[in-house]
Amino acid sequence: MFVHSLSSILVNPHSKDSEPVLRIGLVSDVPQQHLVFSSQFRVHERTLPAGPCVALGNGPVVELRGTDWSVKLPDGAVLSPVETGASFTITDMPVGTGFHWQQKEDLIYNGELEFSMTSAGMLTVINRIGLEQYLESVISSEMNPLAPSEFLKAHAVVARSWVLAQLARDHLAPHEQKPPGVDIWEWQDREDHALFDLCADDHCQRYHGLTRRISQAARDAVKTTRGIVLWAEEHVVDARFSKCCGGLSEEYHTAWGGSAPPGLVSIIDAQAPPQGFALPLDSEEKAAKWIKGNPDVFCRVDDPALWRALSLPMDRDTTNFFRWTIRYTQEELAAMVEHRTGAGLGQILRLTPLKRGPSGRMWLLEIKGQHGNLTIGKELCIRRVLSDSHLKSSAFVVEHRELHRDVPGGVILHGAGWGHGVGMCQIGAGSMAAQGSPWRAILTHYFPSCELRTLF
Ligand SMILES: [Zn+2]
Ligand SMILES: [Zn+2]
Repeated sequence: MFVHSLSSILVNPHSKDSEPVLRIGLVSDVPQQHLVFSSQFRVHERTLPAGPCVALGNGPVVELRGTDWSVKLPDGAVLSPVETGASFTITDMPVGTGFHWQQKEDLIYNGELEFSMTSAGMLTVINRIGLEQYLESVISSEMNPLAPSEFLKAHAVVARSWVLAQLARDHLAPHEQKPPGVDIWEWQDREDHALFDLCADDHCQRYHGLTRRISQAARDAVKTTRGIVLWAEEHVVDARFSKCCGGLSEEYHTAWGGSAPPGLVSIIDAQAPPQGFALPLDSEEKAAKWIKGNPDVFCRVDDPALWRALSLPMDRDTTNFFRWTIRYTQEELAAMVEHRTGAGLGQILRLTPLKRGPSGRMWLLEIKGQHGNLTIGKELCIRRVLSDSHLKSSAFVVEHRELHRDVPGGVILHGAGWGHGVGMCQIGAGSMAAQGSPWRAILTHYFPSCELRTLF
């Protein structure tokens, strides 16, 4: 099987194995899904015509109904395009689930289509696609394909490394004990997917198929870097990336559980340490000065044209990601914490950062309320509890306002960066490329302890 052949690639980096095929979950746990075939697809010696159809979970089988045809398929059935290059459309596919840019779109994909059923009779739609073709789409989906070409090449290597590391880590469940005294200890990682390798949404990597035009630049980026990965301590690096680090990149353990994979270290996202700041951020005072400051770093994009070249339409409204503020009244804050945690703390008296990582991102926060306290982590949990969707990051400083008998009338959160901040900073890498850095130099900057290897 394709995925299992990967282990031989990983053991022998000079293997001539062909590229792996991935199974990407497009839609999961739905009672039915509407599809459109661009041309004929074949399954179990039957040829299905072009046009719309609906896939219905029907007990242990999947029923496909077209305008004047229907077919019942067993769990795990794979539909292959009759002509190479044929595509299928998934209608109303959720995009950005749980994030502030959540929406539904019709998305078009290449490759094979697989249907999987859960024991509850719900349907999962999986796309089987070669790694390099998947990467062309991811580069286009995750970033503007018109972004600087050296950035796209660096991104291709990061995305390829990440995918291969995820598959290789399949057998390692990142268990981690909740530390004593902590009430909520949550993060999100790939262990969530049982039926497929990766999902198509922001949780794994945005994979929007052919919907966004795959640019020649994205194709070139994947082709130039074919088979090349980041490598450290005899492993493909589990190379993470996020939108904007805020000036310092973060360590793995602040965002995820289990032991940190090799090759991920915190760096200053600049040519030289920015003037006027004391690093590392080993005190609240230093963290506050950094987060409320405006350091001269790669991901501080002062040129709106560069931001437009680096962003997608759905992200373009968000211009305040390097430094941001958000205000809550006491009523809003108390209601949000209760809604998000289920804990009846009453009025919120104080938000106290207990632990921060090297980028200033909190990974342990104490929420002190009238009727009790709550200690929560890690960074994504903190971002969720203090927002209707997600705070942009957990690198924030809390200003308690209008104190009246120890009860604040509201809070202002002053924040920095967008995303978990681990690994490559997309905006910073785009800036480096725009300033003339080649892709290898960009990768060395964000992953200074890694080397590059060609796996296939
Ligand atoms: Zn996922
Ligand atoms: Zn950055």
